[in-house]
Amino acid sequence: MKKVLILEDEENIRSFVVINLKRAGYQAIEAGTGQEALDRLQENPDIGVAILDIMLPDMDGFEVCRRIRAVSNQLGIIMLTARTQEMDKVTGLMTGADDYVTKPFSPAELTARIDALYRRISGDGSSFNELLTQGPFVMNTRNHTLEKAGNRIRLTQVEYAIMKLFMQNPGRALSREDILSAVWGKDYDSELKIVDVNIRRLRIKIEDDTANPVYITTVWGFGYKWGA
Ligand code: CA
Repeated sequence: MKKVLILEDEENIRSFVVINLKRAGYQAIEAGTGQEALDRLQENPDIGVAILDIMLPDMDGFEVCRRIRAVSNQLGIIMLTARTQEMDKVTGLMTGADDYVTKPFSPAELTARIDALYRRISGDGSSFNELLTQGPFVMNTRNHTLEKAGNRIRLTQVEYAIMKLFMQNPGRALSREDILSAVWGKDYDSELKIVDVNIRRLRIKIEDDTANPVYITTVWGFGYKWGA
């Protein structure tokens, strides 16, 4: 059974999420503190997606996210944010999360996000070894790895999916809607800002100078273009 970790200290919200995860066919692993979440993840390495609340008694959800990312890029991470939280601050702090959901959220919305992340983790089903080469970049689509000039670049699943989309469409201007639909899924109802957050993070990992990006360039008022 597909496992999802839910880190939330407010019991009523947590049980609400747990009920809906079970209804959607997931096994829910619960945690009420950041430390508990890290312990549960260590005990259950097969957890595919983690939902992290931000306001917690022992450490904030961003810190939990950072600690998870220090050991795993494979796990899908969704942050639970409050509507009162300043969105720019949240996205700036989203150093390793794949997505965020704003409270109050509908169960359908949350499970759609989890389904989308799980689909990506399971891969596209192709098992043959395919290498995509663009400039100094070599992507191995079987191993889900990316190298720049022979050096491995560690990517989250979402960052990998965006890179793959770019490398398969060199020179083509992709709108933020194109990227959202290709990476997060067609029926995905999310804010376009999540695309920018992930692009900003990708640039830090792949560009020589993030202030003057040459690989992922901005197409003003439209989206982004791959130009390696
Ligand atoms: Ca909380």
